[in-house]
Amino acid sequence: MLKKVLIANRGEIALRILRACKEMDISTVAVYSTVDRDLKHVLLADETICIGPAPSPQSYLNMPAIIAAAEVTGADAIHPGYGFLSENADFAEMVETSGFAFIGPRADNIRLMGDKVTAIEAMKKAGVPCVPGSDGPLDDNPENIRAMAKKIGYPVIIKAAGGGGGRGMRVVHDEKEIVDSVNLTRQEAGSFFGNSMVYMEKYLQHPRHVEIQVLSDTHGNAIFLGERDCSMQRRNQKVVEEAPAPGITEKERAKIGKVCVQACDRIGYRGAGTFEFLYENGEFYFIEMNTRIQVEHPVTELISGVDLLKEQLRIAAGEALSIRQKDITLTGHAIECRINAEDPKNFMPSPGLITAYHPPGGPGIRVDSHIYSGYKVPPSYDSMIAKIISYGETREVAIKRMLNALDETVIEGIKTNIALQEIILSDDGFVKGGEDIHYLEDHIMKESS
Ligand code: ADP
Repeated sequence: MLKKVLIANRGEIALRILRACKEMDISTVAVYSTVDRDLKHVLLADETICIGPAPSPQSYLNMPAIIAAAEVTGADAIHPGYGFLSENADFAEMVETSGFAFIGPRADNIRLMGDKVTAIEAMKKAGVPCVPGSDGPLDDNPENIRAMAKKIGYPVIIKAAGGGGGRGMRVVHDEKEIVDSVNLTRQEAGSFFGNSMVYMEKYLQHPRHVEIQVLSDTHGNAIFLGERDCSMQRRNQKVVEEAPAPGITEKERAKIGKVCVQACDRIGYRGAGTFEFLYENGEFYFIEMNTRIQVEHPVTELISGVDLLKEQLRIAAGEALSIRQKDITLTGHAIECRINAEDPKNFMPSPGLITAYHPPGGPGIRVDSHIYSGYKVPPSYDSMIAKIISYGETREVAIKRMLNALDETVIEGIKTNIALQEIILSDDGFVKGGEDIHYLEDHIMKESS
């Protein structure tokens, strides 16, 4: 087993990693920026090292500083969490060539999946259903672009091969705009992502976002742990996630799960990963793979009883998964609400001092959060400060428990999106289940403003 893990992240996920390490008697090293000295996991870690000032390029994205911290402390592995360097293939490579285990996939797999064009190509070869599209980069010949869009059928979406975070995409409804839109997206992709390659897909108008969680060890065992529905999104950012996805049948789940497991086998995948799909009219369409632990992993943990973080640590230590596919039974229903420090009116971040904090509790409630009374939320990072996760025997019970939990939660001194979460959880469409990715913005938020 691993002896000492360096946690190359901050906030709630750093604390989640620390908790998994402690359960497995693994020592921890917390690295932090100068504004993060008071983070909960920094206060709890066995060793701590300041790696730089607040701006993330100088701290949480500073690869040499993180590697040096691992060397100085004698860590044997590095956990990147999510965001920051978690999907940076160069970092994964640097970690391993420096003699540490990277708690994630091999660099070549991260690279393959980090470029959406090569990812789609690999997935198609592995038999994963993809969105009908250009199946490769677009050239700059206007005739070819027009012909491709015509073949796919409008509306189409132009996407950057190197895109991420919901940026570098453009929907086109009309032939008149297609060539200009491709050129514009190409320019933006070049300046945002340093890669001007773009491709084209059919734009699905009413899809849901349904994703499959996988785990794959280095002994040839790959399993899937059901799906999550993350259709409640604002500006392509997930707001509420749940597992299982309402209405997905056992048969559909088994079929798409098997496809994902086969894809893992085929590329020799290592670690935890998520296959993201758009789901429309009973069909799954692959859009991308996340080669890391995800924010919404707790909903899968609650319905499967599998600790995904501990499995990640086992896999990185070269051990076999502790469970097999036949051991996985999904029971009950789990929902996660992301609590952000933000102004409910304009969604601007609302950093500052938390003067009072009372987390919710009771049956079926889990809170993954690093905040406490007296903690100061810095303005420098993502605004998510807590995840409230509810579990129940049925979806109805999970919703009820979540509504109670939101009502119980007190966070004073800063503004949060708790009121919006309450509106979502009591919305008729949400309660019915199975709404598409536009529902939150086009219905719930319009009606509540
Ligand atoms: P990113 O890496 O930036 O998150 P994704 O490829 O995962 O980009 O797409 C993000 C979101 O954009 C999806 O969740 C979906 O809402 C929308 N989207 C992407 N591709 C399509 C498509 N072909 N049709 C409709 N919506 C799409």
